[in-house]
Amino acid sequence: MTKRHADFIVLGAGPGGYACAFRAADLGRKVVLVDPRATLGGVCLNEGCIPSKALLHAAEILREAQEMGDWGIRFGKAKVALEALRAKKEGIVAKLTDGLTGLAKRRKVKVVRGTARFTAPNRLDIDGQAWSFDHAVIAVGSAPVRLPGWPEDDRIWDSTAALELRDVPEHLAIVGGGIIGLEMATVYAALGSRVTIVEFMDQIAPGADAEAVRILHAALEAQGVTIHTGTRTIAVATAKSGLTLTCEGAFTGEIKADAVIQSVGRRANGSLVGADAAGIEVTDRGIIPVDASCRTARENIFAIGDVTGNPMLAHRATHQGHVAAEVASGHAAALDTDLIPSVAYTAPELAWAGLTQSQAKERGIAHKVASFPWAASGRNLSSGGGEGLTKLVYCPETRRLLGATLIGRNAGELLAECVLAMEMGATLKDIALSVHAHPTLSETIGFSAERALGTLTDL
Ligand code: NAD
Repeated sequence: MTKRHADFIVLGAGPGGYACAFRAADLGRKVVLVDPRATLGGVCLNEGCIPSKALLHAAEILREAQEMGDWGIRFGKAKVALEALRAKKEGIVAKLTDGLTGLAKRRKVKVVRGTARFTAPNRLDIDGQAWSFDHAVIAVGSAPVRLPGWPEDDRIWDSTAALELRDVPEHLAIVGGGIIGLEMATVYAALGSRVTIVEFMDQIAPGADAEAVRILHAALEAQGVTIHTGTRTIAVATAKSGLTLTCEGAFTGEIKADAVIQSVGRRANGSLVGADAAGIEVTDRGIIPVDASCRTARENIFAIGDVTGNPMLAHRATHQGHVAAEVASGHAAALDTDLIPSVAYTAPELAWAGLTQSQAKERGIAHKVASFPWAASGRNLSSGGGEGLTKLVYCPETRRLLGATLIGRNAGELLAECVLAMEMGATLKDIALSVHAHPTLSETIGFSAERALGTLTDL
């Protein structure tokens, strides 16, 4: 058997893995990128972030077309050709994954299709082929959690199956009201399903600001979604005629559904890479612990992305990928994971970064809150926006931001200004004195800062 050697090898070609491979190549390393998939991009590009955003865009158009009735514009009942919608989504994914293949080629990154497992601290097996390496980066991601005891059934979907858009069930039940559950509720409600969400905690999007979540909760209900919080599913029964969920808690009873999405979180894939052989620790939750430089216990092995634990978000993985490539190539780099933005691409969007008001309270951190309701935003009202909110949490002494939450149209895009303000240590005065164009939704951030300073004239 021929033995192969890699100067720098990356296991997993998701947003963390490919970013790491490309950065290492740009730093002059000879890079091998290994993944069992036929295309680059991992879960995010192939069956996660990108296809879901394509379907969410279609959902937004369907919903807005209906809402234009109030403006005197009627389109009639929309007809959705599922096959064409599926093809459109797949075309977008293919364009992006092909683009990545081109980027890898131009950087002379060798892409190997296969599954890699460590056999020693500097050796790997890739589908029966032995490899040695100088540096390795584990970027093998995570997989959807399956509820224990649930049967195998074509009508019980994980996020991948939900994004395949197999059909539009008349009644769809979603177990788990986190980001995936909420985004899928937004898509399928717009496509015409009667959607019921069952969430175990006492609010959907647990961890997000409660005041903003109330706005999202009401908006989803207005879209026809039934939400049971504080409720757990204790059994699922399958019959030819449909599925029955038995629930207990704030809602106790049965939910009949034609399909069920399980979106109860993801589990890190650390136990799949033979980490033992490399002398690397894996927790019982499949997580490979790393420091801020993405180093594992082994000097020459790094780990990045979902496999290193929460928050399991693509943009965190990408930044960790750059850090690992740089540190392994002799540069100083680290990532502070306290400031990773979160966005639920629901209607309206919910976006937050840093501390929420309740987190600041729980941790005993001195804080104040300034907010601006979007009902007073000219841009929001004139573009058909509903209820929304911009909320800044700040330190009363330094007047620097500790956190920000936005809910409303394009909240995910607007959040970037707050993240930059936090990274740069900007004060409320810096934000308030930065001229925000009128009329824009970004004004709501400037207005919130002015409100805190007592200089606001728009409310
Ligand atoms: P999640 O952790 O965000 O949400 C899971 C939800 O399920 C939680 O609210 C939890 O309380 C609930 N839950 C757990 N067990 C339950 C039970 N038995 N019954 C009812 N509810 C139960 O996980 P997710 O939504 O599956 O998403 C997985 C990961 O993917 C997350 O890390 C998420 O951030 C990420 N993701 C991000 C985006 C985005 O950034 N837009 C989109 C999709 C997924």
